Amino acid sequence: MVNPRIKSLSAYKTERTSARVKLSSNELSIEFPGDVRKRIAEVLSELPFNRYPDPQVQELKEVVAQRFGVRTENLMLGNGSDELIYYLSVAIGDQNRGIFYPVPTFSMYGISAQVFGRERVEIRLNSFFDIDLEESLRLVQEKKPALAYFSYPNNPTGNLFSEKSIVSIRSQGVFTVLDEAYFHYSKRTFLKDALEREDTVVLRTLSKIGMAGLRVGIMIGKEEVIKDIEKIRLPFNITYPSQVIARLMLTEFYPLIEEEVERVIRERERVYSALLSMEGVEPFPSSANFILFRTYIPADLLHKKLIEKGVLVRNFSYMEGLEGCLRVSIGKPEENDAFLEALEGVLKEMA
Ligand SMILES: *Cc1c(COP(=O)(O)O)cnc(C)c1O
Repeated sequence: MVNPRIKSLSAYKTERTSARVKLSSNELSIEFPGDVRKRIAEVLSELPFNRYPDPQVQELKEVVAQRFGVRTENLMLGNGSDELIYYLSVAIGDQNRGIFYPVPTFSMYGISAQVFGRERVEIRLNSFFDIDLEESLRLVQEKKPALAYFSYPNNPTGNLFSEKSIVSIRSQGVFTVLDEAYFHYSKRTFLKDALEREDTVVLRTLSKIGMAGLRVGIMIGKEEVIKDIEKIRLPFNITYPSQVIARLMLTEFYPLIEEEVERVIRERERVYSALLSMEGVEPFPSSANFILFRTYIPADLLHKKLIEKGVLVRNFSYMEGLEGCLRVSIGKPEENDAFLEALEGVLKEMA
């Protein structure tokens, strides 16, 4: 019989609706050129996939370590950072102590807490989508959570929480996870703390910089902390193809990725200005590769009408505090234009 706690869960959802322009999952919209694909095909054709891959993922770790300016001993890799969130939610603190996170935020923090039967200590973000420090400290003192997650910048609101608030909450004795899935777009990090302190780790991922399909998540922390959490990692969690493709992408082909990331940052500012100039649209400033925006049109209807025009964005209006809100990922210039045009079209029809 399935545990009632598990039965009551609702699984992580993403939309499978096909649309010409897919701006719903914060992926990097990039078509890798023929020579890149050819090189990958060559390497894969020689892959001894009848064998298990390297369980220590040493070669990929060396490349990641070099890219992020850390040592391999500071790294643990996961099948996406989602897997690392599971590990943290089971490994940190006593099971009868809760997990703290501000909401609305990335849904995996709450899902993992439920999976492991830990109390969800949620605090509502203020009207600027920042942490309400006073309320948070009160809640932390009352509930004594062992672990806190901060999406930095926050998905789906796009902003960076105040550093001071994060540090104050941590100083109450809460192990702190900075989920920096969008680091390449924000350039802000707690890396130094993660390397120096035993109560802080940083999560990164290759998913938002062009490799979502490879499923490679990265945890960075002090050697002693990493060593302990490593004990629960499933062996061979990074597949052979992922290990070799990620290695190629982070070395030979990395300039290609860097160039696209910088283009997305420029496009983010362009799309933000365009949304700001539209009557009845309120975009929120973003340090990530997506923009959350609110309109007066019922969000379900707008979402559907955009799909009819070939553009898929993410509907967040079901989340408390995000009524009327949709989130658009920043894609290629022509995709962003298609989105802006479709939105303008709907606004005109509804006027
Ligand atoms: C996308 C995202 C992740 C998931 O990353 P994967 O490495 O693809 O599992 C984690 N955290 C946040 C905040 C995200 O937006």
